[in-house]
Amino acid sequence: MPGGGSPVGFVEGRRTTTRKSQHLISLAAAAAIFIVLQVLITHFYLHVPVTLAGERMRVARDISVAGLLREKKVKLVPGDLLNVRKRVIEKSKGKPAYVVVNGERVPFSTIIHSGDVVVPHDGEDVTEPIITRRVSLPPETKIVGSGRYLAINAVGVPGVRRDYMGGLSKIVTKREVLKRPIPTVLVRTDTAPPKMVALTFDDGPWPEQTEKIADLLAAKAVPATFFILGQQAKKYPSLLRRLLDDGHVIANHTYSHPNLTRLSTADVREQLLTTQKIVMRAAQRKTYWVRPPGGNTNEKVNAIVKGLKMQPILWDLDSRDWTKPGTKSIVKTVVGGATPGCVVLMHDGGGDRTQTIQALPYIIKTLRGKGYSFVTLDGLYNVRPSKTRLPVKKASVAKNG
Ligand SMILES: [Zn+2]
Repeated sequence: MPGGGSPVGFVEGRRTTTRKSQHLISLAAAAAIFIVLQVLITHFYLHVPVTLAGERMRVARDISVAGLLREKKVKLVPGDLLNVRKRVIEKSKGKPAYVVVNGERVPFSTIIHSGDVVVPHDGEDVTEPIITRRVSLPPETKIVGSGRYLAINAVGVPGVRRDYMGGLSKIVTKREVLKRPIPTVLVRTDTAPPKMVALTFDDGPWPEQTEKIADLLAAKAVPATFFILGQQAKKYPSLLRRLLDDGHVIANHTYSHPNLTRLSTADVREQLLTTQKIVMRAAQRKTYWVRPPGGNTNEKVNAIVKGLKMQPILWDLDSRDWTKPGTKSIVKTVVGGATPGCVVLMHDGGGDRTQTIQALPYIIKTLRGKGYSFVTLDGLYNVRPSKTRLPVKKASVAKNG
């Protein structure tokens, strides 16, 4: 048995060793399996496959779109605001960046699922809106023929253009003529121009007198031009409205009738603009014609008037009604002196105008009998561009108006 004990002991010992190593192997295998499982779980369960911008990858389960972009360092930028020439007006003021998941736009907080196809997009640029404006095209003036007189052959009609432009930049991209202007045609001729006379009344509105004159003119259907004073118009705004309703033209004779050549530029402007404001308030009209009081004017005054987009004008024929020479004398002066296209100076304000009022029906009747028709200054010079020559007399000629 002695020989048998040792092998047994040996066998037993080997058996012990074998068991131990088997135990270790089992442990190692378990650990390996555990690790492999861990890896598999981590890889296949805690991560999900997605496609981001065409690239396949695995990302943490339950990650949001924003988290995914952050993790993969995908930077998205909003679009810019562009002008009509595609230049940037303001950075990042265009459309916001966005993400499409499986073909559908989703919020950045959306959770990513297995197999999702994620396509990030930068924001699109936005071009400023296009706006349109209508522009009036003034008619050009054509002069044809030769001769001593200038007569209107055709009165021009303004055209209309539509401009397309950037709403913010105001850059015009397209100009479309909707209606071509029809030119004004003036004819030079040796035949005298049509017999037209423009009666003008200064220094009103004057209560009773202006009304009487307006009544007389209305009865004979004679339009006229009234050079009003701002300080008078302020007191009698209803008279201005009456004149306008009757079809007369209201013109500017300054606020307080000063000698404009002795005033500063600022004071001349104030005289005219204050009066214009009063007319605007009473009759919603701007004044265009300006008659410097007393006919006192010079280059400087004329330039100031024109700078205000107004037109200085004096007269061709002074009725001298302001000297109160008697009704007959006034009629004789006007009827005898009238020529085609002349501007006649008379007064409705500035004192007693009984003689003027009495003379008026005779003047109208006699001139009509001679073939004259009556027009306002607008009617006489319905060509407003500066090409028309206007009767502006020397300041020294008369001390009235
Ligand atoms: Zn005057």
